[in-house]
Amino acid sequence: MTPAGRQKLAEERLRKLVAYARQNSPYYSNLYKGLPEKWELSDLPPVNKPDLMASFDQWLTDRSVSEEETALFIGDKSNMGKCMNGRYLVFTTSGSTGFPLTVLYDKTCMNISSALSVIRSYARKEDLAAFIMNGKRTASVFAEGFYLGSGSIAYQLRRMPWKKGLMKNLDVRMPITDMVEQLNRFLPVMLGGYPSGLELLAEEQEAGRLHIAPTVIMTGGELLRDDVREKLTKAFGGFVQTNYSCTEGGIMCHECVNRHLHLNEEWIMIEAVDEENRPVPDGTMSAKILLTNLANKVQPFIRYEVTDRIVMHHETCGCGCQAPWLEIEGRRDDILQFEEGVRIQPLAVYAQLKEVPGLKRFQLVQKERNLLELRILAGDPRTVYQKAERILQDFFMTNGVRVAIIAGEELPQIHPKSGKFKHVVGLK
Ligand SMILES: [Zn+2]
Repeated sequence: MTPAGRQKLAEERLRKLVAYARQNSPYYSNLYKGLPEKWELSDLPPVNKPDLMASFDQWLTDRSVSEEETALFIGDKSNMGKCMNGRYLVFTTSGSTGFPLTVLYDKTCMNISSALSVIRSYARKEDLAAFIMNGKRTASVFAEGFYLGSGSIAYQLRRMPWKKGLMKNLDVRMPITDMVEQLNRFLPVMLGGYPSGLELLAEEQEAGRLHIAPTVIMTGGELLRDDVREKLTKAFGGFVQTNYSCTEGGIMCHECVNRHLHLNEEWIMIEAVDEENRPVPDGTMSAKILLTNLANKVQPFIRYEVTDRIVMHHETCGCGCQAPWLEIEGRRDDILQFEEGVRIQPLAVYAQLKEVPGLKRFQLVQKERNLLELRILAGDPRTVYQKAERILQDFFMTNGVRVAIIAGEELPQIHPKSGKFKHVVGLK
């Protein structure tokens, strides 16, 4: 389809979704009461997680499903990969930024998501061919649970049990030695997971304990930094790529060979906006996005606020894909805010510490407004810590902030539930 054709299709889907939501969701019916007859997207009031969560039952378009029933369903681990009432897959967000949100997908929503994945996730066509030729074994390293990553795999395996030899998820929290052993036996053609988890596996591969040769390494869930991409490429030899996804929107963007995240524009609408939800122009950093998922009818996300900062682009990309593309900034890491009113971007902290020789991994946790705990992983922790601390002190001083930095007693920690990793953890 032409770009204009895809946009027209998205527009039609939006009208249908809004009509459906008004008819079947008391929340949206009430929210859209005063809407003019000929409305534009910008006339629809944005929605946010706290408001929607507070009226969960009213939000859903199926009156036979309740928050209570959903909570009971995901409280039972044996329901992993099953459909609630035979109709809905239930996912939860990681809750690393506040309370976890429960998200229902009906089978159509799931099918759309799978189809987009099959058709668009490979940046290079030859990798898809090689994946099929080499036996299609897919291993991923996600947190086990009702999360989009591992939950989708559990669903596929329940529907197609014969795929057990071809597809497996390893819980990111399992001991690394067990993970290495299982991967050495399974020999995946495709390896998926969060960049932070795969980074640890790259170290195992470099050390000669892990020996796999995946054709493609598909990362997601966190920002893939350039240095991690290089590290994974060097260790595994396969093509490393990423996507832009969240539970509320599914896989919203796929990455192309030019490392641009192209929007699945006929199923997902993304508006780059400032703090007050006003549009920001192409090429400038947004404060957040408004997300509209045109594929989810049971739990509509229409102009839903997500606190990812992005830069939207409509200029042509050399890869041949005509869909708009975007760049994301420092996902998952927090901005540090100090008593002096100064705000420090996580990427700036990262840029400072990556210069410290011998520092393998770090995590900076804000304990109080101007008290930071630095956790490090290093061969010679005492020396490395001293260097890192001095660099940080200088950096904060230059930025007009006086902080106390204390040495963390523990190593950098992943989020206990989601298994995701943050380098910079701000005060809640
Ligand atoms: Zn492109």
